[in-house]
Amino acid sequence: MPGTDLNITAIPAFDDNYIWLLQGAGKNCAVVDPGDEDPVIELLEKEGLELSYILLTHHHPDHTGGVPALLERYQATVFGPIDERIPFVHQVCREGDTIELPALGAQFRVLEVPAHTRSHIAFYGENSLFSGDTLFSLGCGRFFEGTAADMQKSLDKLATLPGDTKNYCAHEYTRANCTFALEVEPDNPELQARSREIDSLRAAGKITLPTSLDEEMATNPFLRTRKTSVVNAARKFDPKAAAGISTMAAIRAWKDRF
Ligand SMILES: [Zn+2]
Repeated sequence: MPGTDLNITAIPAFDDNYIWLLQGAGKNCAVVDPGDEDPVIELLEKEGLELSYILLTHHHPDHTGGVPALLERYQATVFGPIDERIPFVHQVCREGDTIELPALGAQFRVLEVPAHTRSHIAFYGENSLFSGDTLFSLGCGRFFEGTAADMQKSLDKLATLPGDTKNYCAHEYTRANCTFALEVEPDNPELQARSREIDSLRAAGKITLPTSLDEEMATNPFLRTRKTSVVNAARKFDPKAAAGISTMAAIRAWKDRF
């Protein structure tokens, strides 16, 4: 699918959520994971935009809480996973589905990425990935409804996407994630450079997202569970950790206590 001139911006919500706003050439727009309706309505009113689509990655309230109020106000189509905990989805999305957003001239492919929740999905298209709480910059979501094996498989799936894909995740967790990543790989020069970049972005009041998948592959320990440096670090936490799933399990458990 060719890249369009889709304009993607962050609407900050709560303490550290981002609701991504997608805008095409006209006044129609989409939002991803609107946990709160207020900042969305405020921006749409200010810019004179019409909400046409809502994309949902998973059921957690900080990703879906604003949907009922947005549907009272706008005629928007809601795309989301099959999950009884999200009753307001109009079009359910399964692995491999392509969703069409004609008012934006855009389309996205659906990837099922369970682990944070069992029905978590991601949307890929227009050189962009909306990964919700699955792939953060320098981190990944907690395994609330899945295992390390699930997350390994989900992240392996995302890792097959083109390296220049921009990852739009749902939280500004990057600084804390980086501090942990440096515990795992203190000698990774790209991670050290990323740490300095994050500090200067935050000092300037800027967000740290999106990053490219190539950047994440070079720095995110959860995408690097087969690298010797990460496996060796994981063994400090679990002496039996081996490349892949057991290293994923070890560094997730380590980070949860970090
Ligand atoms: Zn979540």
